[in-house]
Amino acid sequence: MDLMYRSTRNEENKVTASQAVLKGLAEDGGLFVPERIPRLALSPDALASLSYHETAYEVMHLFLTDYTEDELKHCIRCAYDEKFDTPEIAPLRRAGGAHYLELFHGATIAFKDMALSILPHLMTTAAKKNHEDREIVILTATSGDTGKAALAGFADVPGTRIIVFYPKNGVSAVQEKQMVTQKGANTCVIGIRGNFDDAQTGVKRLFSDTALNGALSEAGFRFSSANSINIGRLVPQIVYYVYAYGRMVKAGEIQAGEKINVVVPTGNFGNILAAYYAKGMGLPIGRLICASNENKVLFDFFRTGTYDRNREFILTSSPSMDILISSNLERLIYHIAGDDAQENARLMGELSAKGSYSVSSEMMERLKDFRGGFATMGEVSEEIGRVYAEDGYVLDTHTAVASRVYREYREQSGDDTPSVIASTASPYKFARSVMEAIDSRYAGMGDFALIDELSRISGTAVPGAIEEIRSARVLHDKVIDKDQMETAVRDFLV
Ligand SMILES: *Cc1c(COP(=O)(O)O)cnc(C)c1O
Repeated sequence: MDLMYRSTRNEENKVTASQAVLKGLAEDGGLFVPERIPRLALSPDALASLSYHETAYEVMHLFLTDYTEDELKHCIRCAYDEKFDTPEIAPLRRAGGAHYLELFHGATIAFKDMALSILPHLMTTAAKKNHEDREIVILTATSGDTGKAALAGFADVPGTRIIVFYPKNGVSAVQEKQMVTQKGANTCVIGIRGNFDDAQTGVKRLFSDTALNGALSEAGFRFSSANSINIGRLVPQIVYYVYAYGRMVKAGEIQAGEKINVVVPTGNFGNILAAYYAKGMGLPIGRLICASNENKVLFDFFRTGTYDRNREFILTSSPSMDILISSNLERLIYHIAGDDAQENARLMGELSAKGSYSVSSEMMERLKDFRGGFATMGEVSEEIGRVYAEDGYVLDTHTAVASRVYREYREQSGDDTPSVIASTASPYKFARSVMEAIDSRYAGMGDFALIDELSRISGTAVPGAIEEIRSARVLHDKVIDKDQMETAVRDFLV
């Protein structure tokens, strides 16, 4: 029997995995969650001998049960190929007293590639399975990394178009350059005068605008989402936690069956939710440590049980985590409410009406494996400097948030369980902040001079993704107000 997915806001709304991938978001505004979390079939020691591809199949076939073995293996092969600069796909690197799981070896050098390399394949396969002949239009809001990774994944994929909205002044110079130089006739990139939450809220509104959806359907289009609310992104993210565990066993860092902690630099709560699902599958994970920057809504939530987005939005040196509405938290809320769609819908109603909600003490009890922490920009700089000085290893600003939070957690708790820190971006993507953290002398240097200097001091090659944009032409220069998003979509499509 197929594992079905239901909306976090309405139990009756059930779909298959491939339908959930196509839809992205449920019609009622909820997110699709699996009816139950499948158990890993392999024992912890068996994981040690699996390649990334094998691990991916082992995990994904349990969740995406209406895909055939051939379909799934084909998707996996197409996704995790030479686009990655290492056959390990997600290497584990020991430095500074922890293990960094490097998730940035894909086409756009951020962890979003781990899922967005496979999503277009999962989606076009799903379209065929469900006899969908309308063109799929991917609508995406990005805090910087999703946009480029989605563009790279969907560019020139037949039967799809992609529109990306990013906050004009809320992404790094490299992130913006990567997006606005994107090739592919089916791509469209637009800057918004506003922040990431404005872009994300605008996209959600377009998804649920029935008049717009009707008009587009008649013109032969249907919307779908490449944001981390799509289970086609969530499921591939579970894979690398299982893989990391196997690598830890293989390297002799832990005994098979021994627990590890996982530390994740968090924004929209997708990456850490995947770790939670991995734990739910039976992977021996102890604590799930959720690391935030100064936009520390999640830290406050884990401490107090109140989620409150009514606060100032702070632009930090880790822009991909500058988020006050962590969309994927809704899935966790649904689960800790006892898979209760009605209760979840009530809390989400409060969030949109007054910007905050509080969970019950019973729900708080179910969060006991989570720990929240946060790091300020100053602390992030210090951490980058420290790890570089100790080991010559260069962290990007997002990974440094997690690294700092981990160190503080370890000191305060005395918990020295072997820990895996999700390393979510290449330092090359945030070269300015990273280099200035290592030495303030670098402050006056140009972007590409900094990149060459980073290569020199770290002894690593400049990634292809960076070489590409040195001389690339700007192909997208549209900037709009946040209330013009619908018009922009119509202009691009019809
Ligand atoms: C997206 C992103 C994050 C946050 O991940 P979520 O799944 O949104 O919590 C962290 N670091 C980097 C570099 C990212 O691109």
